[in-house]
Amino acid sequence: MNLIFLGPPGAGKGTMASLAKDFYNIPHISTGDLFRAAISNETALGKQVKAILAAGDLVPDEVTIAMVQERLLEGDTDRGYILDGFPRTIGQAESLDKFADIDHAVNFNIPREMIVKRLTGRRVAKRSGKLYHIIYNPPKVEGVCDVTGEPLIQREDDKEEAILNRLDVYDEQTAPLIAYYRKQGKLVDIDSSLSTDEVFKQLLRSLA
Ligand code: AMP
Repeated sequence: MNLIFLGPPGAGKGTMASLAKDFYNIPHISTGDLFRAAISNETALGKQVKAILAAGDLVPDEVTIAMVQERLLEGDTDRGYILDGFPRTIGQAESLDKFADIDHAVNFNIPREMIVKRLTGRRVAKRSGKLYHIIYNPPKVEGVCDVTGEPLIQREDDKEEAILNRLDVYDEQTAPLIAYYRKQGKLVDIDSSLSTDEVFKQLLRSLA
């Protein structure tokens, strides 16, 4: 099953993708994670995109598309995959249609006022990749990952100014993808304002 997870930042795409990847046993491919790994490994790509991510702007289409195309050639994608955070522009979606066969585009809907609350409280563990929230999904011990014990950090672009820019970028560039996939008959709408458990149940029901 080849899936796209669509929705504004803070809609819970990453959390749902990490649950769905274990359930369906398919890889979770997050373009944001791929860029962040390139930045922490200080690769040429990382140097090219660092300031773009910090500001909450979009990496140019050709760079992003080439990275995804290469990732989909890896052997673990034979049984399917979840694309989280890609495509984010109509140009990316049109390119993707040329090299992939998408089954469903899942659209995670969330009211705007919940987004800022979710994102400013979000914390991540870099090594384990686990996501937490200081109120809605706190770790067992404050400030450290349950799995690895590493300190939790706040993403540079989860600070208020970058969040507001990311929301504008989403409205202008990514929201048009909803109509794009609806027209293809692939759109699946999910109410993402509910608890993690309830959203995940909805997701499984919609894809069954
Ligand atoms: P995310 O983790 O999905 O919120 O992505 C973090 C950041 O990575 C975004 O704000 C962009 O700067 C960049 N990024 C991730 N995916 C894409 C994409 N499909 N196209 C362009 N930039 C992207």
